[in-house]
Amino acid sequence: MKCVYCGDARARVKRPKTADAVCVECFFRAFEREVHETIVRERMFVHGEKVAIGASGGKDSTVLAYVLQALNARYGYGLDLFLLSIDEGIAGYRDDSLRAVQQHQVQYELPLYILPYSELFGWSMDQVVEQEGRRANCTYCGVFRRQALDRGAIKMNADKIATGHNADDLAETVLLNLLRGDFPRLTRCIHGVTMDEDCGQSGKEAGAAALPSLPRVKPLKWCYEKEIVLYAYFKKLDYFATECIYSPEAYRGHVRALIKDLEAVRPSTIADTIVSAGLLPSARVDPSRSSALTGQTRRACSVCGYLSSQSTCKACLLLESLNARKH
Ligand code: SF4
Ligand code: ZN
Ligand code: ZN
Repeated sequence: MKCVYCGDARARVKRPKTADAVCVECFFRAFEREVHETIVRERMFVHGEKVAIGASGGKDSTVLAYVLQALNARYGYGLDLFLLSIDEGIAGYRDDSLRAVQQHQVQYELPLYILPYSELFGWSMDQVVEQEGRRANCTYCGVFRRQALDRGAIKMNADKIATGHNADDLAETVLLNLLRGDFPRLTRCIHGVTMDEDCGQSGKEAGAAALPSLPRVKPLKWCYEKEIVLYAYFKKLDYFATECIYSPEAYRGHVRALIKDLEAVRPSTIADTIVSAGLLPSARVDPSRSSALTGQTRRACSVCGYLSSQSTCKACLLLESLNARKH
C-alpha cells in the first residue's frame, strides 16, 4: 500500500489517531509538525526561555525530550533546555528508570539535574510506604512531585517546566474528574499551559514572599499514546517501560481501561473527550486567573515558603502527619 501523504513510499504505519496509512518518514514529519503546531498555537514558549523537561525515563518524557530538542533546533525556538528528574526513592523502579535518563543526557546532549525526595523532604517513597502502607502512596507522591519539580526547576533558574502528558492522559484525567465530581480540575487539566493547581497562579505574579511555582506546558497534549510508542519504536529511542512497583491507583486504572476500550471502537474518542472538556464554560477562563474565581488568596507556606492557597502547603501538611507517626 502507498503512503497516503507522499504517494511514493510504502506505507508501514497505520496512524492510530487518523487511521491514515503512511510511510515512516511521513509519520515522523506529521508527528513532529503536530507537536510544533500545538506549541505555536498555545504559545507555550517565549524565545530565550530556560525550560526544564520533566524526565522520568519513560516513553512520554523520552519522546518529549527528543522532539523538543529537534524542534528547538529546526524552528529556532531559542530555548535553553535541560532534563530535570525527580528521584522518588523507589528501589527497583526509579533507580532503573534514572539510568535511562542518564543515557538520554548523553545521547541528546542535554544537561541533567536529579533531585531526590529524601533531600527535599527527608523521606523517600520507600520509607513512606514502609511506615504508611500502600493505601495513600500516590497521594504523597503526587503532592511531593509537584513541589519537587518546581523546586528543582527554580534551583536551575528555569522559566517553565515541560511535561510529557499525552492526549490519553488528558482524556483519562477529564473522565476521572468528571466521575469524582471535581469540575474545576476537569477543565483545568486540558490546558496546554497551566499554573500551579493548588493556587492557580504563577508565583512570579504572586509576590516575592512565596517560593514561586512555575508555568507548566504540555507539548504532547494532542499526541495519542499509541503514536508516541510508534514514534519511539521507529526512532529507536530507549526508554524504561516498567510500571511503578507501588502500582497506580485502582480507580484511575478502570478509567484508563474504559478509554482504551472506547478508543478501539472509535479512535477519535480521546481527542473528542479533550475537546468536549474545552467547550465547557469554565474551561475558557484563563487558568492564570482561576484563583480569582475561587476567591483563594495565595501566600507563602508558613513552614517551607512554597506558594500555597492555605497557611500551610499540602506537602508540609503531609510531612507533618508522617513525622508525627514516625516510629
Ligand atoms: Fe508515585 Fe504512585 Fe506514580 Fe508510583 S504510581 S511513582 S507511588 S505516583
Ligand atoms: Zn510518505
Ligand atoms: Zn510548605
